[in-house]
Amino acid sequence: MKLKVVGCYGTEENGYLSTSFLIDDIIALDAGSLSSLDLKHQRKIKQIFLTHSHLDHIKSLAPLTINAFSSFNGTVNIYGIEDTLHSLKKHILNNQIWPDFCRIMINGSPIFALKKIKFDETVDIFPYKVTVFKTVHSVPSAGYLIEKGDSSLFYSGDGIIKKDLLVKLSKVKNLKALIVDVTFNNSLNELAKVSFHNTPKMLKNVVDKYYKGDGKFYIYHMIPAYLKDLKKELKEIDYLFLHQGLVVKI
Ligand SMILES: [Zn+2]
Ligand SMILES: [Zn+2]
Repeated sequence: MKLKVVGCYGTEENGYLSTSFLIDDIIALDAGSLSSLDLKHQRKIKQIFLTHSHLDHIKSLAPLTINAFSSFNGTVNIYGIEDTLHSLKKHILNNQIWPDFCRIMINGSPIFALKKIKFDETVDIFPYKVTVFKTVHSVPSAGYLIEKGDSSLFYSGDGIIKKDLLVKLSKVKNLKALIVDVTFNNSLNELAKVSFHNTPKMLKNVVDKYYKGDGKFYIYHMIPAYLKDLKKELKEIDYLFLHQGLVVKI
């Protein structure tokens, strides 16, 4: 599998985009920055898995719909748990903030199809299997385990990493990479807790105790303003941080 980082930050400023990852160019994980891709690459995306409803993970869905008029390549399936899809329908695709592009057709097909998924369910998108994990954030949230052949990766989305999740992930065979949220540096511990994000120290404490597998931890969702301190703290504990444009073979 090829993991491409389209954007991996907890906010946006010049040179730093919100969160989106691509698996082999065709499956997207979160939609914070997919519209930064050129049209050729936007056309390739057929499935988008949303971790939660926060704006920094969904906002590029809006320009994707407009781009579809000049570049339609069939309906794009948007997967998410019930709360995420409900929020998307009620607050964004409500014909007030943005048109309901699940009802707008091109060549007889809707631009988006919303696909509800449940915790612990596995979606088969040959040759991939995507399993939904419950995660802990300020809104209902899901993480995804993506398996293809004899390798797999886990993407947590935003949220505090807890014992239960790490115990489950320790049992996953061939788990090569875990992409997890570290938003704030260690001195902002209280802010991290109230906003349901991690600091390097919070993550390291729980991973050392409960993760027994061989997967490598990759960090995303850093706030650019704190990047200097964050990089130093992450290096000290030997975690890898992602950056825009990076391609990782899993
Ligand atoms: Zn976020
Ligand atoms: Zn969030």
